[in-house]
Amino acid sequence: MRWHRVRRRYIGWLSLSLMSFTALMLLITYETRWVHPEIHAYFSQSGNLTGQQLATRSRRYLEESLGILLEEGDSEAVAQRARFQIELGYSLFDIGVYRNEYACTVPSLQRLDGLHDTLSRGIVPSPALLSQDLLAPIRCLTEIEMDQLDRRARVTNQFVEETRRHQTQVLMGSLAIYLLGLGFWGMHERRRRQADRATRESLRWMAQALRDPLTGIGNRTALHDDIDAQAGRSLGLILIDIDYFKPYNDALGHPDGDRLLRELVALIAKALGGEARLYRMGGDEFAVLLPCDSAGTLERSCALVVDQVRRAALSHPDHPAGPHVTLSVGGVQFIAACEAFTEAYAAADQALYWVKAQGRDGWQTGRVMPMDRVDSP
Ligand code: GH3
Ligand code: MG
Repeated sequence: MRWHRVRRRYIGWLSLSLMSFTALMLLITYETRWVHPEIHAYFSQSGNLTGQQLATRSRRYLEESLGILLEEGDSEAVAQRARFQIELGYSLFDIGVYRNEYACTVPSLQRLDGLHDTLSRGIVPSPALLSQDLLAPIRCLTEIEMDQLDRRARVTNQFVEETRRHQTQVLMGSLAIYLLGLGFWGMHERRRRQADRATRESLRWMAQALRDPLTGIGNRTALHDDIDAQAGRSLGLILIDIDYFKPYNDALGHPDGDRLLRELVALIAKALGGEARLYRMGGDEFAVLLPCDSAGTLERSCALVVDQVRRAALSHPDHPAGPHVTLSVGGVQFIAACEAFTEAYAAADQALYWVKAQGRDGWQTGRVMPMDRVDSP
């Protein structure tokens, strides 16, 4: 039960979409904030581009000194120039990274030290000695360069691999979040449609519950609802009853009686216009609710109803007083409110039965308290 409540409260489609969006943002933030600096660090930490350049430059100085010594002969000046080149090569060779990582570095530096001492004394060693003292460091530097190049290639490959892996992660993550989003949207749409259907269904039921199925006009419940909705307004309530409807039915049958009911509804609606609302109270009794600010308006409306049906001259084969359908009408003016309606209804009903008692085919208005006016047909 509790889980159900939590689920309904927090795991709606909107919160789920927000969660997926947050997840996507976190993934992107992780990518930009941590992954790229990490990759960047591979290059900066390796420091090997510089390292490789130092080894290359050092090798070139040593090769140059070897060239000077082998090609320019045995003289003090040559020895000095070669010594200077060796010093330059030495300074670029003698770095911590090479000493620590390449075993050939220390012996090579020792050889260069020895050669430097010899040259300082103005002696140019024999080509055989030179090749031992200079070629070994040059070979060592070449090895360092090759190794640095290998390292660089490895770091580059690693970088490419990492980038590909992260790209796949972002792609899959985005795809999953997109699919989740689609799912949530579908879920939301389904719920919305269900809610719409339920609303339409209840509106249909409500409308049906408020309508008279035979004539299509409102029923007694609708009349009460409409009065509630217009509380405080001055209204006219007119009750209408068909005279001698039972003999009509008996003479022509119920289907014709039904047809007459529908026909009378149309006639009354036409007589009173758009502002009046019609209700079937049951059997052959109808009610009309209309805005009414004076006794004159009410009287005119009652008279209109009676006259309209008289003019229509609908045939009634068994009417004791003539060949046509007639109505008895009672009206009352009142201020809409639930309590006043009961009294208003009683007053209109009383007026109507007064008309019945007077011989039917006519109208009468009443007051919520005593009736004040009589109009006999
Ligand atoms: P009164 O002038 O005193 O009103 O006489 P009446 O014959 O109209 O008497 P009453 O109002 O009591 O009779 C109502 C008749 O209405 C009785 C019944 O046969 C008929 N009726 C009620 N509901 C329907 C309906 O849905 N269709 C049809 N055709 N007749 C109905
Ligand atoms: Mg009747």
